[in-house]
Amino acid sequence: MFGIYAPNLDTARLTYFGLFALQHRGQESAGIAAADGETVTVYKDLGLVAQVFDETTLSGLTGNIAIGHTRYSTTGSSAWVNSQPIYRQANGTGIALAHNGNLSNTHELAARLPDPGTSDSDIMTEMIALEVQNGHTLPEAVAAVAPLFVGAFSLTILDTNTLVGLRDPFGFRPLVLGKLDDAWVIASETCALDIVSAKFVREIEPGEMVVVSEAGLESHYPFPEQQTRQLCVFEFVYFSRPDSIMAGKNIHGVRRRMGVSLADQAPVDVDIVVPVPESGIPAAQGYAAATGLPYTDGLVKNRYVGRTFIEPAQSMRDRGVRLKLNAMPGELGGQRVVLVDDSIVRGSTTKQLVAMVREAGATEVHLRISSPPYRWPCFYGMDTGDRNTLLAAGRSVDEIAAFLNVDSLAYLELDRLLAATGLAPETLCTACLSGQYATDIPTTTNKIALENSR
Ligand code: SF4
Repeated sequence: MFGIYAPNLDTARLTYFGLFALQHRGQESAGIAAADGETVTVYKDLGLVAQVFDETTLSGLTGNIAIGHTRYSTTGSSAWVNSQPIYRQANGTGIALAHNGNLSNTHELAARLPDPGTSDSDIMTEMIALEVQNGHTLPEAVAAVAPLFVGAFSLTILDTNTLVGLRDPFGFRPLVLGKLDDAWVIASETCALDIVSAKFVREIEPGEMVVVSEAGLESHYPFPEQQTRQLCVFEFVYFSRPDSIMAGKNIHGVRRRMGVSLADQAPVDVDIVVPVPESGIPAAQGYAAATGLPYTDGLVKNRYVGRTFIEPAQSMRDRGVRLKLNAMPGELGGQRVVLVDDSIVRGSTTKQLVAMVREAGATEVHLRISSPPYRWPCFYGMDTGDRNTLLAAGRSVDEIAAFLNVDSLAYLELDRLLAATGLAPETLCTACLSGQYATDIPTTTNKIALENSR
């Protein structure tokens, strides 16, 4: 997500650049909404940022304010109707909303509305629009309904004259504030500030709503209770770009420390350390540095194919692995390999990778994962599907090793992962690793079917 309030700049084009930097967070659709004081214009479509926008579409998005979004589906299918920003008309103004996260009380909220739409983001937009329809300003409307939302929501919202940024009281998903000359910028990660040469000012705090208008920037706290911060630990493991700074920590450095700790916890007698590109690279570097083993690029990535895990359908994911990665026999042949990756969610990608490394001639394949087993579904913005699709749910590490056909397998222990972040453990969400959820979670979903069947 990206948002900008800039009276004298080409806000749509800067948003386009910001979305480029955030493409890794979602690849199903891209969209920008722009406001010029009188109208709100939205352009969005399925596809990558570069596929969705061109000179013609960008030149049609004018105004002092813009927000943008790249979508990764967590609720609702990957259809055009669910692409963002979402638009509503209310009381003579247009409202557009972009959302990162996932609500965990979607069904309760939907029951309140005559026309809830097709996703949690639709519901939030509808609730805000109804308040505006009743005569409230956009910030008043957001402040009125936001306490009803439960779960993960980092939002950028605009109407014709105002830009709003909101972060849920737990701060599950990141949101940062930047300054570009006189302009204010809001973004999911600091890498999006860098690309437009904006200076990082600070994080938008959990529970904070920032409002940018002609009057400047104001900060509000619309939630009745402040919660203990629950920043998603998977932002450090997988989601975020390595060059982003999150909660004051350099993501690349954190991932490297995970690899160092993994080497200390689970050393193995092998010839080479091979990363699974790209999110496994910093941990593999740390593992190699700590063990003194040679670091070898045995897998080559096609940089023009997106993240396989982030693609929604299993059939696409399976095809995606070979499109994305290729094993090099010249590097792997005759070698005992320790393969380092950041996580295993469903396991289909990893199983194919191990097979590719063996086909390339590796004599042993040992797998080291720089996070603990992913055993519980996420309700806060990572689309992990039903619990019975998670490889580690209900399986021992030995069973997983047998399924993946590796000679040995070790996952980084949770305490070590938390220590590698350098943050206070109680400020991080670890629900998918520990089963400890910060909020009530839906009981009407088959995401937790496996647990209920025991
Ligand atoms: S459950 Fe896991 S992926 Fe979801 S927010 Fe918590 S740590 Fe992140």
